[in-house]
Amino acid sequence: MSRPVRFNIHPIEAKISDAIGNAPAPEGYGGDGFFTARLSDVVGLARKNSLWPLPFATSCCGIEFMGTMGSHYDLSRFGSERVGFSPRQCDLLMVMGTIAKKMGPVLKQVYLQMAEPRWVIAVGACASSGGIFDTYSVLQGIDQVIPVDVYVPGCPPRPEAILDGFMKIQDLVGQESIRRRNGEQYKALLNGYGIE
Ligand code: SF4
Repeated sequence: MSRPVRFNIHPIEAKISDAIGNAPAPEGYGGDGFFTARLSDVVGLARKNSLWPLPFATSCCGIEFMGTMGSHYDLSRFGSERVGFSPRQCDLLMVMGTIAKKMGPVLKQVYLQMAEPRWVIAVGACASSGGIFDTYSVLQGIDQVIPVDVYVPGCPPRPEAILDGFMKIQDLVGQESIRRRNGEQYKALLNGYGIE
């Protein structure tokens, strides 16, 4: 008996023109041959659509991230196909998995090696709060050692949830003032973590 073929027997020709859209332009004022907008909005538009993630994956949530990078969910659609493992060339730290207290200083070191502006997502219950590991050896949330911008719930979160967290980061990045990182409030936040 022949093996049933269930997939791709009648491939549908993709209409690329329907699937690709332009990033919406920021609010501004335009006319024939010119367009003006706030500098912060233009910089935010560029930043939010070109985030370079650094996956700090220590356990099962990292597997979900692999699914998120795969062709079905395809993080590349957000301009983030360039996943890097050099902190100096990444601006989005994605922490996925159980972080033991011994790993805390390592995680902080990676964060410190990233250039500003940098953002952090805690993916999954373990990174956000220690998850099911309410024990002496596990960090009860990475926000005990570094500031976190977005928390993604779930154990594990599905790739859809990771994408949702990523899009929330994009919203933050797009709306962030270019002066924020020099502000007193941001400095106070870092000082709270012992970072100068
Ligand atoms: S949140 Fe759940 S799936 Fe993710 S690393 Fe922790 S135990 Fe694993």
